[in-house]
Amino acid sequence: MYATIIYIMGKLEDIVSLCKRRGFIFPGSDVYGGMAGTWDYGPLGVMLKRKVMQSWWNFWVDQRDDMYGIDAAIIMNPKTWRASGHVDTFNDPLVECKACHNRFRADHLGDFGEGVTTEEFIKADIKCPNCGKKDWDEIKKFNMMFETHVGAVSDDTSIAYLRPETAQGIFTNFKNVVDTIYPDLPFGLCQQGKAFRNEISPRDFVFRSREFEQMEIEYFVNPKEWEQNFDKLLASCHAFLEETMGLPVDKIHDLEVPAEDRAHYSKRTIDIEFDYPIGCEELMGIAYRTDFDLGNIDRESGKSMVYRDKNTGESFIPHVIEPSFGVERLLMAVLTSAYWEDGDRVVLRLPENLAPYRFCVSPLLKNKPELVKKAQEVYHQLKDKYTFVTWDDSGNIGKRYKKQDEIGTPKCVVVDFDTLEDDTVTVRDRDTTEQVRIKIAEL
Ligand code: ATP
Repeated sequence: MYATIIYIMGKLEDIVSLCKRRGFIFPGSDVYGGMAGTWDYGPLGVMLKRKVMQSWWNFWVDQRDDMYGIDAAIIMNPKTWRASGHVDTFNDPLVECKACHNRFRADHLGDFGEGVTTEEFIKADIKCPNCGKKDWDEIKKFNMMFETHVGAVSDDTSIAYLRPETAQGIFTNFKNVVDTIYPDLPFGLCQQGKAFRNEISPRDFVFRSREFEQMEIEYFVNPKEWEQNFDKLLASCHAFLEETMGLPVDKIHDLEVPAEDRAHYSKRTIDIEFDYPIGCEELMGIAYRTDFDLGNIDRESGKSMVYRDKNTGESFIPHVIEPSFGVERLLMAVLTSAYWEDGDRVVLRLPENLAPYRFCVSPLLKNKPELVKKAQEVYHQLKDKYTFVTWDDSGNIGKRYKKQDEIGTPKCVVVDFDTLEDDTVTVRDRDTTEQVRIKIAEL
């Protein structure tokens, strides 16, 4: 019953509107009319995003003994993207309507895979979503990497790319890490950071952006042991999504990606999908990348990527399992699950570990100095202990509750005249709206 309500109420436009109204997420370059596929995080959004990213780091790196962090440069030697196959194959199928000259991602206009051909497309009798005609040009391959030039000269020799995934910065540092901290297999390297893709049609709020953030793990294994490691990592991904992020289990689905739809480097991929308001779509993926990347680096750089297992004496290029998370898609799942309407009350029922603020403290009346003074004391006491505490003395108490409900603050603490007598405060619960009287010392 509860889950159904969330699903019905959490419509995309409601979430977009709340995000803008309350300072979570704004359209990028808003004052200049926007910049398609880019988004800016406001004061509340940046807190939520950082908590999501910090929880991920804590789960995968801090709490484990087999994972290490790295932070590589965004602009990498362009040889990286030739060796990885991105220059040749990181393409989306682009189709242009000859009547109105609008361009679309062909596989998103019908029930096609990414390898859709012009013949298949024409046969499906698709109408142009813009002008309604059916006059299509040939499907072309459109490379999604953003190109730039590095240095003062702008010619073919200075071409570089903004990274379309964080993974390559991990692979290119594999040898550095092995030679400096000597980790035993299996081990993982984790990285968080920006990735850039020149998506043909960015859409659905932050779901498909041109600039976004990834959190990726490359888990290096003995090739003989890839299957059990794949299963273990898949189980950990579910634990992270369901327990740490608090996403409803019944909205998370595993899709075994068929061979023809897998990325060029993958021998097995499971997309973990989520029931977004826009439908069931990929939240993250977990792929068995074999030794594709380290093998390419080994050949192209001339530096050996062979790992010598000190325990077994075997030497081999490790194989890789890659859980790859998109921060924006995770945020959208978290917001969708948390969004709730109860009459005219809008509530973000965020898990306590993710809510931007854990407490809001306010004096019942702003114009009573004795109440403000006492409330300030309570505020500082809580802030010292919990950090994520906000102060609100604007408007009346009803308006403050409304605002705190919308930004997901679990508890509002109100100081009133009784507080001055008996050192108790009212604590109001975001989800139930129940109010209890508690001694300040017990907060
Ligand atoms: P899709 O098929 O939806 O384009 P993908 O399979 O190309 O995604 P991957 O290359 O596997 O995506 O990237 C790993 C993760 O990065 C995705 O699961 C998703 O969470 C995130 N991601 C990829 N592209 C975007 C994007 N344009 N905007 C936001 N997040 C993205």
